[in-house]
Amino acid sequence: MKSYRKELWFEVPGRRAFINITPDVEGAIRESGIMEGFVLCNAMHITASVFINDDEAGLHDDYDKWLEKLAPHEPVSQYRHNVGEDNADAHMKRQIMGREVVVAITDGRLDFGTWERIFYGEFDGRRRKRVLVKIIGE
Ligand code: ZN
Repeated sequence: MKSYRKELWFEVPGRRAFINITPDVEGAIRESGIMEGFVLCNAMHITASVFINDDEAGLHDDYDKWLEKLAPHEPVSQYRHNVGEDNADAHMKRQIMGREVVVAITDGRLDFGTWERIFYGEFDGRRRKRVLVKIIGE
């Protein structure tokens, strides 16, 4: 069995963003040379997510509005976590959108449904953050 590890780095200029990282993960699979196995992809921060869904701008805008309803950023004083920081909403948004995804690799490719894509969800940007890509197989 082979294994391969790579970190993907992001610095989102605003507080929140969704980034399609499917091409980066496909690149890591090519670099690994693994043809049959699994890829794990996880945010290495507790205020960011990795999730799978549709690459459709309207849906991403809907997610952003929905998450703001569930855990509004303002007023920051509504959260007990926000003593000395202001990112309690980002922790909650990350919890809803998830930490990681695992995808099967078949014949050297992501074994995806037609519309599935992998996204990095940033909820407290403006600093460098990373995603772990770990591939195992043969
Ligand atoms: Zn925090």
